[in-house]
Amino acid sequence: MLDKTYKEQLQIWDKTYLWHPFTQMQDYIKETPLIIEEGRGIFLKDIDGKEYLDGVSSMWCNLHGHCRKEINDAVKRQLDKVAHTTLLGPSNIPSILLAKKLAEIAPEGLEKVFYSDNGSTANEVALKMAFQYWQHKGCKDKTEFVALQYGYHGDTIGTMSVGGIDLYHKAFSPLYFKTSFAPSPYCYRCPLGKQNKDCDLQCLGGLEDILKEKADRIAALIMEPLVQGAGGMIIHPKGYLSGVAALCKKYNVLLILDEVLTGFGRTGKMFACLHEGVVPDIMALSKGINGGYMPLAATLSTQEIYHAFLGEFSQVKTFFHGHTYTGNPLGCAAALASLGLFEKDDILRNLEPKIKYVYDKLKSFESLEHVGDVRQCGLIAAVELVKDKTTKEPYPWEERIGVHVCLEAKKHNLLIRPLGHIIVIMPPLIIGIDELDRMLDTIYKSIEIVTGKNS
Ligand SMILES: *Cc1c(COP(=O)(O)O)cnc(C)c1O
Repeated sequence: MLDKTYKEQLQIWDKTYLWHPFTQMQDYIKETPLIIEEGRGIFLKDIDGKEYLDGVSSMWCNLHGHCRKEINDAVKRQLDKVAHTTLLGPSNIPSILLAKKLAEIAPEGLEKVFYSDNGSTANEVALKMAFQYWQHKGCKDKTEFVALQYGYHGDTIGTMSVGGIDLYHKAFSPLYFKTSFAPSPYCYRCPLGKQNKDCDLQCLGGLEDILKEKADRIAALIMEPLVQGAGGMIIHPKGYLSGVAALCKKYNVLLILDEVLTGFGRTGKMFACLHEGVVPDIMALSKGINGGYMPLAATLSTQEIYHAFLGEFSQVKTFFHGHTYTGNPLGCAAALASLGLFEKDDILRNLEPKIKYVYDKLKSFESLEHVGDVRQCGLIAAVELVKDKTTKEPYPWEERIGVHVCLEAKKHNLLIRPLGHIIVIMPPLIIGIDELDRMLDTIYKSIEIVTGKNS
């Protein structure tokens, strides 16, 4: 543990020098900052030695726990060889091995791997690839995109252009390229006002209307398969993804799947699109790619996309995109070790009882007075809080009801992060049943305490 004056110094320096992401700093500097010093397994320890369960997987990316020996060792081994070399020109061993591995485990047909550093860039690459694919194909008018309401694909201007969350995206709208937004299949707040799920997925009609009218101008549709994460852990009804994929085929529009959150086991399968046998033209991966160890991302494409970029140098068909740390060897070495653990620990099969456990346990949440909806997909779950359960009236967002629930949970050694009024359950995949039990009990009690006060 650190000495007291140094701890105080860190707290002051944090407030003096750091600008935290997605954070109102005027509020932040009034509070005592939580400063993490180390992590072991699913627990994080702060500079006071207090331990927390990492219920948010350090922003949805940790899979096998912190300080995992196999990944640490792989990174150390690579570190003793070389930390970084560029892929602009030369290649490096871990990036080759990982590309081969990703192509092997990805849905069949996705065979080319383009690296970058984070989820936003993985999607940015996907959008640029899709756009230029059509240019190379001679379809010069296909310059627009389709995305879903409440979709989230990152914070760069390009990915914000296809983002559907007003709170984050509206302010920058003058900077965006043209995107049409289809209704999100948010069943609890059905865009068509349906009450139950035997609706024949009529919400696909909204998408088809857009495609019918504009397909000639549309390069690609981008969406998060099965779970729209940042938009509120909106879980899509069965068949929606395959319905979208069929419409993309019918109207000759590329399908980009953003599996930045859903990839690498979160939904119970390696990739979410495998649940519905859908193979996109382009797939973006990041968060869980190396178990949450280092910035790394990959955009996978089919041979069809890749081949459109081949030609004589003078034809200028080259894909002019690349980041300095593209294919970083340390990140790739960590990813290979993480994927090794999927096999060694049989991660996906061991997830099944945990997913079932969460399903059973979440039922009890439905009786809470201010819980409007509970939903789950694999080891991703969410509890939507409402001011009034009968009318589904949301809490005013300024009330920060989710933040208050999470602050209560923190008192009980659980770290979680809400999305507005939605409580997110996103533990590392290796969490045990006992720890899941404790986590869900803590969330239940925290909701009860906080919303009790507000009713
Ligand atoms: C987090 C996230 C992103 C953005 O990834 P960053 O690494 O934060 O840039 C994109 N898409 C989805 C679905 C995400 O959850």
